[in-house]
Amino acid sequence: MNVVVTHGPQETEAFGGRVAKLVRPGWLLGLEGDLGAGKTAFVRGLVRALGSPARVHSPTFSLMNRYAGGRMEVVHLDLYRLTSPEDLVPAGLEEPLLRPEGVTVAEWISRARFDGLPHLRTLQFRWIDENTREISHDLPGL
Ligand code: ADP
Ligand code: MG
Repeated sequence: MNVVVTHGPQETEAFGGRVAKLVRPGWLLGLEGDLGAGKTAFVRGLVRALGSPARVHSPTFSLMNRYAGGRMEVVHLDLYRLTSPEDLVPAGLEEPLLRPEGVTVAEWISRARFDGLPHLRTLQFRWIDENTREISHDLPGL
């Protein structure tokens, strides 16, 4: 397990930018951590570094955003409001989770309660204090 400490939102975004250099089509990144832990800031940096001009915000109500225009499409899920895993299918979330084409990033991935998601790589975000966040992950080389 690797631990990265960021001091300010720019560093959290910059870490997303470093992950952008690693991601390959078909990757599913699961982001865990409380509200305010920096999950969306990470996605913002990832999407920007992939070259998309899209504006990134948490898909808290829509459950899913798509960001095009970069090296790979990014599907951004926020499963916080998912009350039951059965809701995945009607919400159209099954495909981006099971067969991601570009890269799928899912905040609150544990809400999906899947046992074995193919290609799932989980990053754990933790609020340390106002200016500090900790990100634990097992991505190689970061
Ligand atoms: P989440 O998606 O996990 O709820 P956000 O990405 O929306 O969290 O982050 C909440 C706030 O914390 C945002 O304003 C974000 O820019 C900020 N933030 C991210 N990383 C840090 C950090 N290391 N220090 C201070 N603020 C940060
Ligand atoms: Mg968020």
